[in-house]
Amino acid sequence: MALELKATEFVWKDGEFIRWQDAQVHLLSLAVQFGVSLFEGIRCYESEGRRAIFRLGAHIRRLYNSCIVYRMPPEYSQEEYAQACVDVVAKNRLDSCYIRPMVIRGYGAAALDPRASPIESYVACWPLDTYLGAGALEKGVGVKVSSWQRAEPNTFPMRAKAAGHYNAAMLMKMEAHADGYADAIALGPNGLVSEGSGQNLFLVVDGQLITPILDGTSLQGITRDTVLKLATEMGIPASEQLVARETLYTCDELFFSGTATEVTPITSVDRIPVGSGKAGEVTLQIQRRFMDIVKQRAEDPYGWLTPV
Ligand code: PMP
Repeated sequence: MALELKATEFVWKDGEFIRWQDAQVHLLSLAVQFGVSLFEGIRCYESEGRRAIFRLGAHIRRLYNSCIVYRMPPEYSQEEYAQACVDVVAKNRLDSCYIRPMVIRGYGAAALDPRASPIESYVACWPLDTYLGAGALEKGVGVKVSSWQRAEPNTFPMRAKAAGHYNAAMLMKMEAHADGYADAIALGPNGLVSEGSGQNLFLVVDGQLITPILDGTSLQGITRDTVLKLATEMGIPASEQLVARETLYTCDELFFSGTATEVTPITSVDRIPVGSGKAGEVTLQIQRRFMDIVKQRAEDPYGWLTPV
């Protein structure tokens, strides 16, 4: 299933609002030519008329770090980008939505020294339903181990969230869909488990939560960090480990974590059922706690929510 963009009215661009349809860049901007675009994906949740953006500060910090890695000094402060996210949701009168800040290299440079291309900042937002399809959060999804693997560390800097990296993610996603799976899990160059096409991964083995270590082949997910913190709070032992592919088939439970994906149970890998073949208990417990906080059904003891 392909998710389609739902157009909204306004996009924030460099300190002002422009119309959605005017958010255009030139064909020869470096963003288009070479994929020079750093971005974030953030969710705003609505519940009983109260809107809140989840872990906004952490996302903007990661955007900043991506800019440092790619030598693209951002034009605005972290506070200004965060405010732009709040403002664009309010301006579009959206309730729950997905927010996409982007810092890109525009038009000017002809080749690989980008300095003649200005740095431009945008924040767009649009409504986004359950990322892996209706029922995915409750029933879970089937995935495959991708034939595409993650890039070797020090090739693409995978801790940076850069548009170009997502060509590989799309290869994984397209292959998964072509083969009848909801998504894919990728191995790293060492043959060990890395992450999903756009999600981090957790296993449950004997009541313990395990997530692959951050070995330079994956993104340091903010939802991953959230799950680790919630596990601590809930008394579930959690650790970061090297994860061998075969563990995916033998673990008791498996789930994805990500901003778009939220906490989605994985019920089979390569058509081998995981555990009972149903969404796991520990997974659903963590998912419930996560949803209770983001949807403001429970207190937010971590200060993770920014009201809109
Ligand atoms: N890995 C990749 C490759 C991603 O694109 C994402 C989504 N941003 C994640 C992991 C999950 O990160 P987060 O929880 O911060 O959304």
